[in-house]
Amino acid sequence: MNIKILSANPNLYSTNRLIEAATKRKHTIEVINHTKCDIVIEKKNPCVYYKGNKIENVDAVIPRIGASVTFYGTAVVRQFEMMRCFTTTESIALVRSRDKLRSLQILSRAGLGLPKTIFTNYSKNVKEIVDQAGGAPVIIKLLEGTQGIGVILAETKKAAESVIEAFNNLQARVIVQEYIKEAGGADIRAFVVDGHVVGAMKRQGKEGEFRSNLHRGGTASVIELSDEEETAAIKAARAMGLGIAGVDLLQSSRGPLILEVNSSPGLEGIEKATGKDIATTIIKYIERNV
Ligand code: ADP
Ligand code: GLU
Repeated sequence: MNIKILSANPNLYSTNRLIEAATKRKHTIEVINHTKCDIVIEKKNPCVYYKGNKIENVDAVIPRIGASVTFYGTAVVRQFEMMRCFTTTESIALVRSRDKLRSLQILSRAGLGLPKTIFTNYSKNVKEIVDQAGGAPVIIKLLEGTQGIGVILAETKKAAESVIEAFNNLQARVIVQEYIKEAGGADIRAFVVDGHVVGAMKRQGKEGEFRSNLHRGGTASVIELSDEEETAAIKAARAMGLGIAGVDLLQSSRGPLILEVNSSPGLEGIEKATGKDIATTIIKYIERNV
């Protein structure tokens, strides 16, 4: 097969592992930078140009689109869909996953457990919002944050109110969320490929940190999921329409709660924690679909 990885950064662990796995299985694979692709649209002849050359005979694409280039990246993925290439992440699912609020709405409809979440149009009624989220402490999240930046734990009602007011004044959209204390600064990342959990790790925030992001100094260890957790992760990926997904869950006293579903999950943390060859699992997923 002829596979293209759509990535703006060819030197990432994930990209290198996918190249290694595809090459081992005798496929042709190449990284192309989607931000440097031109999209040509005309009657019945959709095509993509890269560095002045027409890209032809592509069987599949693996989108690894960064959050900052979602708009253009999605357009490039959509163009490959028009060219009838298989994509491991469909453009529509990619767009959905990049909108935290829309994702939570979709997951809620699918009947998944979620931390109670409040979103308002810069409401002045901040007291009520904090009460709705179960009272202090609450979590306040900037809608467009990633890697744990813009996630705040407000310990008291007063603190929560002033943080919400400050963001409202800056016209920065936030969601206010029930704080799941019993998660103990840890979360679970379940890596889903084609409807199966192919690896899972528990991430623990460093001492005194409620955020478990590896980018914030968290540490990862392999974990065996309960049946309930496994089912929730698979259901979340399916509800989002993602063939490949990094599903983040909190362990709560009322069962697993979905935090978010990542459409470009990194391979480094999960492969190192689990010792599994997830890159090859992804290439086999493509083989079954081309
Ligand atoms: P990001 O997308 O920026 O990583 P998350 O929503 O995943 O933001 O939050 C970052 C981390 O903060 C999570 O991995 C988790 O450890 C912690 N966290 C987030 N929301 C909650 C919550 N409602 N209750 C407890 N901990 C939370
Ligand atoms: N982008 C990383 C991932 O999806 C986030 C890792 C982290 O900070 O927890 O795996």
